Amino acid sequence: MVKDLVEFHEMVWHCTKCANCWFINPYFVQNAEFYYNCPSGVKFGFDSHHSGGRMEIARGLIEEELVPTKTLSDIVYSCTLCGNCHVQCNFLIELEPLNVFEALRRKLVKDGFGQPAHQAFKESIEQNHNPYKEAHEKRTRWSKKKDLKEQAEVLYFVGCTSSYRTKEIAENTVKLLDKLGVDYTISSEEYCCGSPLLRTGYYEAGIACMNHNMDLVRKVGAKKVIFSCAGCFRTFKDDYKEELGDLGVELQHVSEFLASEIKDGKLKLNRKEAIVTYHDPCHLGRHCDVYDEPRDVITSVPGTRLIEMDRNKFNAWCCGSGGGVKSAFKEMALDTAKERLREALSTGASVLLSCCPFCKLNMEDANKKSLEKVEIKDVTEYIVECLEENE
Ligand code: SF4
Ligand code: SF4
Repeated sequence: MVKDLVEFHEMVWHCTKCANCWFINPYFVQNAEFYYNCPSGVKFGFDSHHSGGRMEIARGLIEEELVPTKTLSDIVYSCTLCGNCHVQCNFLIELEPLNVFEALRRKLVKDGFGQPAHQAFKESIEQNHNPYKEAHEKRTRWSKKKDLKEQAEVLYFVGCTSSYRTKEIAENTVKLLDKLGVDYTISSEEYCCGSPLLRTGYYEAGIACMNHNMDLVRKVGAKKVIFSCAGCFRTFKDDYKEELGDLGVELQHVSEFLASEIKDGKLKLNRKEAIVTYHDPCHLGRHCDVYDEPRDVITSVPGTRLIEMDRNKFNAWCCGSGGGVKSAFKEMALDTAKERLREALSTGASVLLSCCPFCKLNMEDANKKSLEKVEIKDVTEYIVECLEENE
C-alpha cells in the first residue's frame, strides 16, 4: 500500500536544501555543459521547481502552512518524476523524493487540484483502456496475425504507446520473438498498465488496471511477461508488486531477453558499421536498475560502436515525457528532449538508440522541431535491421 503524504512528515524535514540534487556528481561528467540534472529546475529556474523546493511544499501542506492552489499544482506537476534527484540525494542522505512527489500528487487530486490534462487521460483510460482516446478495438490492429493464441508460455505486453503510436516497436518485437521461436501471444484484452494514473495521483483507478491485467496474465497461463515499454515494465515490477504482492510470473524487459538470447548464441547478427549512442529511459535505468543489457545488445552487433553521452546510466538526463509532463506541460517536454538530442549529437553518433516507446515518441517530436536532426531508433528496430535474413 502506498503512503499518505503525512507519513513523510519526518522525512521532508530531513531535506537540508543542500541542492546536491541539482547537479550530477562532477566525478562522472567530463563536460561542464552537461552537469545539471533536473529538467524542471533547469526549465523554470526557481528553487521551488527542484527537489528541495517540492519537499518544502510537502512540508508546508502537511503542516497546513500552505493550501493547494492552481499555481502550487503547476509546480508540483512540472516534474517528470525522472528520479535523478532521488539518486543524487542518496549519495549523501537516504531520502525518497520520488515517493514524496507521488504522495503530493495523490493529495492534490484528492483536494481537487489535479491537472485537467491528466483528468482527461484518466477518463480515456476508463472508457477506452488507453490514454490516447483511441478505440479499444484497434489495440492489436498493428499485428498481422489474424488469430491470436489464447494461451502461451509468454505474454508480450505491448502497452498503449506502441499499440497506437510507435507501432514499429511492437512490430519489430514480434519479429524477434518469431525469429527466436518463442511460444508467445499478445492480447486484445490488454488494458493500459496504469502507469499514467499512478504517476499523476489517480491511484485507485490505477489499481483497477493492475487487477484487470493480472487476471489476463493468469488467463493466458503465461510464465513470463515480456515488455518493450520501460514504463509498463517498471509499473509491473514495482507498483504491481507493491500493491498485489508476488505476481507469480517472471517479468522481463525485451532488452534483458535479447541480451540473454544473444549471449546463448541464438541470434546471429550481420555487421553494421555505425557510431551510436544510447539513452537510458528513466523507468528502465534508474527505476529498475537495467543498464547493462541494452548496452550488451547494442555492442553485440559487429561493427557498431557505442559512445556514451556525458549523462548516462543512473545520471542520464530524462527525455522529458514522464510524470504526466508530456500532456500537461508540452513545452517543457519538448525542451527537455531537445537538450537530450543536443547531448546525443555532441558524441558524434549518427543514431540515438533507446528502449522505450514513450521516450522515442517525445524525442521524435523534439527532433522534428530541431534544426540539426539525429536518427532515433528503438533497440528492437536496430537489431531487426541486423538480422541475417535482412542482408
Ligand atoms: S532532496 Fe536531498 S539532495 Fe536535494 S536538497 Fe534535499 S537533502 Fe539536498
Ligand atoms: S524527479 Fe527529475 S524533474 Fe522531478 S525534481 Fe527530481 S530531478 Fe527534477
